Amino acid sequence: MGSNKDIELIKDGKRIDGRDFDELREIKIKAGVLKRADGSAYLEWGKNKVMAAVYGPREMHPRHAQETTKAVVRARYNMAAFSVPDRKRPGPDRRSIEISKLISEALEKVVFTEKYPRSVIDVFVEVLQASAGTRCCGLTAASVALADAGIPMSDLVASCASGKIEGQVVLDLGKNEDNYGQADLPIGYIPRSDELCLLQMDGNLSEDEYEEAMDMSIEACKEIYEIQKEALREKYSTELQAEKLNEEEM
Ligand code: UDP
Repeated sequence: MGSNKDIELIKDGKRIDGRDFDELREIKIKAGVLKRADGSAYLEWGKNKVMAAVYGPREMHPRHAQETTKAVVRARYNMAAFSVPDRKRPGPDRRSIEISKLISEALEKVVFTEKYPRSVIDVFVEVLQASAGTRCCGLTAASVALADAGIPMSDLVASCASGKIEGQVVLDLGKNEDNYGQADLPIGYIPRSDELCLLQMDGNLSEDEYEEAMDMSIEACKEIYEIQKEALREKYSTELQAEKLNEEEM
């Protein structure tokens, strides 16, 4: 977040990429793309490209990290060195540790962890190409990957950010909007129970702007939720068709 008067973010009532104030970038999700993961999802969201892979539940190592009454959801968010214009130094940094933690905590809210004491459910989020909003991409893809792994959950988590540019509240900040805007408010939303499992804010919003941003994000999360469910439906209907063909051949 930073203000730069030379960068124009709104022109003729539209944003620089031509979007309306309450319009999402295009989102595509494909479930079950990795053979060796228990569950996976690949997501494209605007120019972001993110892969999520789930392994487990499996026995937690090291053992001292085990929880006797529940499984631990252990997410690791990583940005590929080539995912951003300036090469990203490989390995964890403060930002990726923070994002890993918030993804883990958000997913713990929907996974029935008490079914798997002493276990760990590993969730890997690999950002292949980044263009603002990667934590929302990661959380959205990871929850599809968990469902694809067949892990019992109360619901999916859909995630999206709203923010403020040139005094205007807008949905789903793009790269320049994120860099030169005035606020960014990512949320994680559980549609079935109408609850939040992630809320962060960078920059400043008035109470009214906050309400407006929140309403926009929740509406958008409901749209994203439909895309997530469709990705899972698509995966399983294709699988069922393949099984049927196999049976017919036998
Ligand atoms: N970014 C970057 N290099 C970095 C970290 C981030 O170029 O080391 C870019 C990337 O496009 C990212 C954006 O800055 O999506 C915004 O980062 P932020 O920390 O706000 O998280 P995000 O919006 O991706 O959840």
